Amino acid sequence: MSPTDFPARSPEVSIIIPVYNEAEGLAALFERLYPALDALGTSYEVIFINDGSRDKSAALLAQQFHVRPDTTRVILLNGNYGQHMAILAGFEQSRGEIVVTLDADLQNPPEEIGKLVQKMREGYDYVGTIRQQRQDSLWRKKASRAMNRLRERITKIKMTDQGCMLRAYSRHIIDTINRCGEINTFIPALAYTFAQNPIEVDVAHEERFAGESKYSLYSLIRLNFDLVTGFSVVPLQWLSFIGVILSVGSAGLFLLLLIRRFMFGAEVQGVFTLFAITFFMLGVIIFALGLLGEYIGRIYQQVRARPRYLVQTILEQRDGLPIAAQQAPDVIQPVQPVAAVVSREDNGR
Ligand code: UDP
Ligand code: MG
Repeated sequence: MSPTDFPARSPEVSIIIPVYNEAEGLAALFERLYPALDALGTSYEVIFINDGSRDKSAALLAQQFHVRPDTTRVILLNGNYGQHMAILAGFEQSRGEIVVTLDADLQNPPEEIGKLVQKMREGYDYVGTIRQQRQDSLWRKKASRAMNRLRERITKIKMTDQGCMLRAYSRHIIDTINRCGEINTFIPALAYTFAQNPIEVDVAHEERFAGESKYSLYSLIRLNFDLVTGFSVVPLQWLSFIGVILSVGSAGLFLLLLIRRFMFGAEVQGVFTLFAITFFMLGVIIFALGLLGEYIGRIYQQVRARPRYLVQTILEQRDGLPIAAQQAPDVIQPVQPVAAVVSREDNGR
């Protein structure tokens, strides 16, 4: 069976790859990805989403589209919306029965895709992954383990390794996610909430092939807030408990001071202890306000109902339609057009 035996419209497997400033490593990715997919012996499409890269990534993706127009589609977003939004843009365009997400930096070996596809064919609708010998910095591994534990406590989501993006989802889950319209989300967790028959498999993990991680400490913290506040209101409920505990504590302290007042008379010592307690409580209150802000911010973003991302151009081949290379961005101008339609969409929703 070769990929061309199948109609281009609905392949069995869709591969979704978000790309942000990955120019240095894209050639190596193409070199390993396509042979690995050909080896599956089934129909597939690869959807690259350029998440507003500022390097040559968009041009390289356009070039690759012209090399393999029958199996490659490229979505160019008009700005940087983040990895998860980029993947959602890919989900909306995907047509495969099995949808696999993958990082562009070769940390997820493309050769492992076959393992996930095999599991999906066995009837699972969500294949999660556990990275064997994760190749990331020590502090990231530690922080992610701590987040894993926190998530485990406050949500019903069961994942051994939430961070690995090499995952497979069924068409049904993807269609459900497409109906969600979430703004800040964490895809593996969102998908898990819709899964009926999930499973996890071990996969290899490699060091980044080229370039650096696109996540700063700040964006990692933001992402984890998305994970915690997007899937659970337990932190809000904790606030009430903290409030109760603090009130009981201060009532106790008041009683103690009252008794001492009668036993020893007026005392002025311990003023710094009082400061310490006050500042601690101030900290708790500010944290609580911040946490409330996280939830309110999400509600605000959601009710504004603005488009989550803007698609500038989609490079794809549409059978039977004439070439219509219109309004393509400058970056892809030098590339020779083939039988392809460049469609333009204004709203990614
Ligand atoms: N990515 C993206 N938009 C962003 C940040 C990252 O599309 O704003 C992509 C990036 O190109 C890569 C994947 O998301 O394909 C994972 O990013 P990265 O490897 O930097 O994350 P890490 O492996 O350090 O968690
Ligand atoms: Mg990476």
